[in-house]
Amino acid sequence: MIECDPDELGERAAFGQERLDGDLLDVVRYAPAEWAYYREALPDPGYPWRYVRESIHRADDRGILETRRRGNRIEIRRRFSYPDWVERIVAIENKPDLDASAARALSDQLERDVAMGLADEVWIAIEADDDRVSAALFEDVPVEAGIVEVDSTALTADVAWYPRTLAVDRPGTRILERPDGGAHDASAAQFEYVEASEKRERRLEIAERAYERGWRSYVDTMRPDCRHFEGRTDGQLLPYCRAKGRQPTARECAGSCPAFEPEPPTWRTRGWPIEGGPGARIKQILADRRERRR
Ligand code: SF4
Repeated sequence: MIECDPDELGERAAFGQERLDGDLLDVVRYAPAEWAYYREALPDPGYPWRYVRESIHRADDRGILETRRRGNRIEIRRRFSYPDWVERIVAIENKPDLDASAARALSDQLERDVAMGLADEVWIAIEADDDRVSAALFEDVPVEAGIVEVDSTALTADVAWYPRTLAVDRPGTRILERPDGGAHDASAAQFEYVEASEKRERRLEIAERAYERGWRSYVDTMRPDCRHFEGRTDGQLLPYCRAKGRQPTARECAGSCPAFEPEPPTWRTRGWPIEGGPGARIKQILADRRERRR
């Protein structure tokens, strides 16, 4: 989950919906306001300049950078300034089906995440009803990671353990190898330090990937083609299940839902001759709304 400054997020939209990979970020973030030879305008990338030229051409093709030739030199000028849109990154491991042994295996991954400190917070979300899982997590998961117990039937969530804010601006530790003893045996583990500047780059790439995926949306995950599905407006458009008489969770409103019934074929011809039925219509509305918010 990415927490953003809304104004800066709006400015990010000028760069298009597709993510900017690390190479493009190296160009657009440092592109000058006035025409300049690219090698003088951009910081030394630490890799051959010919790759930078490729990125410049890609940025030009995407309409996010201006380029021109002066003799045999390529000059660049920025079209938009890249905003500082990412405030916090919250990593959530969503594990509703976790059993006790998987919880132990996950603790190793969480330990790596915490040691690296790329995200401001690391959480694990589990189903509320399994005490064995909770016990395994409390025993094995690093204390810096938060634990939230979700009751997907009652649609409630309780924080079982609050996370610590990680030092994202400081160098991190990459755990390279673990001995067989796993997270409990640090004696033979190998580590390397990761500079704060590298973490900044990685955080931005993570945020860019999330931007491309867009807001997690029930357009993609739920079943608006089910006859019980409705979109209800309460300030914002929310999914509603007539069969359950409430807002369904993304997990239960899926192909595996026992109450799922495909919308009748006649709905597909009544009033929706082109779009292909209310399900398709709702999908279109939601997709439009998502696009506008972006
Ligand atoms: S019945 Fe199941 S699939 Fe249909 S809308 Fe309700 S939760 Fe979704």
